[in-house]
Amino acid sequence: MHASNAEWLSQRYARLFASRKVDAFDFECLSGWTWLIDAALQLLSSRAETQRLNLHVMQIKEKFGALRIYHHGGDACIEAICDIAERISENVCEVCGEPGINLSTHDWLSTRCELHRKGSSDTPRGIWRAGYHGHGLAMSICQVINFFGEPRLAVQWCHTPLMALNGARPCELLGTLSGRVEITTLLGRLSHGALP
Ligand SMILES: [Zn+2]
Repeated sequence: MHASNAEWLSQRYARLFASRKVDAFDFECLSGWTWLIDAALQLLSSRAETQRLNLHVMQIKEKFGALRIYHHGGDACIEAICDIAERISENVCEVCGEPGINLSTHDWLSTRCELHRKGSSDTPRGIWRAGYHGHGLAMSICQVINFFGEPRLAVQWCHTPLMALNGARPCELLGTLSGRVEITTLLGRLSHGALP
C-alpha cells in the first residue's frame, strides 16, 4: 500500500494497532482497498469500544485476491465484519478500488478491474474519497448485521445468491454505491415481510 494511504489508516486507527511498535502499520495489499479497510476498521473500532474488547489487529494482507484481517481479542461480531469485508474485497479491484473480478492469472489469484488486469503499479488513492466510501460501506455492513441480529446469519446471507438480486450475492453489491442502495432497499422490503 502507498505510504500516504498507510499513514492515514495507521493514524486513524492507532488504538487497534497499539501492539505494533511502528509508526505506520504495514498493510500488505495495494491502495485500492484503502476504503474497504477503513470501513472494516471503523466497525472494529466501534465494536471494541462499546463492548470494551481488548482488540488488536495484528496483520492486514491480501491472500488469494481477498482482504484478510488477522486480529485477536475479538468476538463473533468482529469475525463477521472481517468475513464480510473479505467477501466484498473479492469484488473490488485491489489497484484502484473500482468493481473487479477475482481471477487466476499465471496460477496467481488476484482481484482486478478490466483496466488493471494486465498489471499496474501501486499509486496513492484519494483519502477523502476513501473516507466517504468507507463510511458508507461501514453503515451498510452494520445495517446487514443489525438486521439479522446473529452475526453468523448475516455472513451467510452475504454469501448467498438471491433471486431478489437477480441471482447476485449481497457481497457482490456492497462494493458499489448503487449496490449498497439496492441492499438497503431489499432489507427495507424484508423488514416489511417480503420474501428474500
Ligand atoms: Zn482497477
